[in-house]
Amino acid sequence: MPTKNELLRQIPSIDQLVASPEASRALERFDRELVVDCLREAVDGLRAQVLAAPGEEGPEGVEVTAAAIAGEAETIVRRLFQPNLQRVINATGVVIHTNLGRSILSVEACEAVQMAARNYSNLEFDIGSGARGSRHSHVETLLRGLTGAEAGMVVNNNAAAVLLALAALADGKESIVSRGQLVEIGGSFRIPDVMSQSGSILREVGATNKTHLADYEAAIGERTGLLLRVHPSNFKMMGFTTEVSLEELVELGAKRGIPVMEDLGSGVLVDLSSYGLPFEPTVQHSVASGADVVTFSGDKLLGGPQAGVVVGKTEAVARMKKHPLARALRVDKMTLAALEATLRGYLNPARVLEDNPTVRMITVGRDELARQAQGLAEKLSALADHFDITCEDEISRAGGGALPMTELPTVVVALKPKTARVEAIEAALRTGTPHVIARVKEDRLLLDPRTIQTGEDDEVLTALTAAMGRSG
Ligand SMILES: *Cc1c(COP(=O)(O)O)cnc(C)c1O
Repeated sequence: MPTKNELLRQIPSIDQLVASPEASRALERFDRELVVDCLREAVDGLRAQVLAAPGEEGPEGVEVTAAAIAGEAETIVRRLFQPNLQRVINATGVVIHTNLGRSILSVEACEAVQMAARNYSNLEFDIGSGARGSRHSHVETLLRGLTGAEAGMVVNNNAAAVLLALAALADGKESIVSRGQLVEIGGSFRIPDVMSQSGSILREVGATNKTHLADYEAAIGERTGLLLRVHPSNFKMMGFTTEVSLEELVELGAKRGIPVMEDLGSGVLVDLSSYGLPFEPTVQHSVASGADVVTFSGDKLLGGPQAGVVVGKTEAVARMKKHPLARALRVDKMTLAALEATLRGYLNPARVLEDNPTVRMITVGRDELARQAQGLAEKLSALADHFDITCEDEISRAGGGALPMTELPTVVVALKPKTARVEAIEAALRTGTPHVIARVKEDRLLLDPRTIQTGEDDEVLTALTAAMGRSG
């Protein structure tokens, strides 16, 4: 066994490596400087590997030949040309999976993104007059028609919409919020933090479980700029609780001349209760209640691209459009194209259930999912030597902080490995091609058809077969 020092001395110089026949293959295809950088990286990695071994002897099985190092460098170069953002198959059953990109878009929305990306467009150009136009115009008419609001605009995400609304309507003034609504969403969005960034001063009222109209009334003074209501999203209070309705807040605001804003979080345009889901206040409802500003996400229950949608009274929205932050928080043309197509889908509520993937996946019933699970289980029966395969009633989740208490009944395919460890199979599936993200429950792997897309069944079988090979 050679010592560490002997191994380190055997490592060829970069010049020798560049001149080696093994590097010539990479040099033919890739930029010379890039190849040299990757040769250096490969050498550094090798050196670190040798030095990390305990004692004086070098680690077993390391090759310090030019062929091995150049081969490693070629792998590094090739990896640079692979996209880092990769497709995954979502078998978790969590529809609005924030870590997996939240909503996937309808066919129409994808086509609109392509069009906007590949071509020049009338993004800020009024085709009729030839004069400068507004990027908000593309969705504002749709937003007005769908929600009944006087005006609308779109920014980067809902966090941005809340920030902009507070800055434009209550900078240097107090925003009154119930203590029961000072929520944190997903770890990076906290109402008190957003408030302090906006320049508005948080004025908490009530207790965690109970806030009364009188609490808001008592807090209103000369410095009051806004009455703010926040949808608690991923958080649910039960038991001895009271909160003030939006209608009551609007009435109070009107009496005292103070604007009222609601952060709806997810924001739905269709009444989900007609599909056996709990009633979620719709955007239309908030608008009809008379709120000055209502904000919601584009990529939660709406099923569109990441965006923060703002609807409300003309005067309040105009102040937001004019605020300097609006420029910093504005959306790009591809987002606008996707959002416009997504919103247009809602003009036909009967079709949106089929065409909008998020709405479809949230509303699909247990019996349909049982059929899909059966179909998937039959495909996977090719692997019956490796697994006990069953279909089981389970629960899927909406995700994205939406409908947190709602258990969506589903039927999953449960795979119980006969010999392999379930964690090893989960990891092999996750890191394979295409990546399949599944749930592990006790000693079984669960595949939820709710979020597996049409045509992906065959790929799940291929990925699982390969994973069995790799996980032993
Ligand atoms: C999700 C959520 C946000 C943040 O929305 P993004 O679009 O993710 O920025 C803000 N407020 C509430 C109540 C939410 O549920």
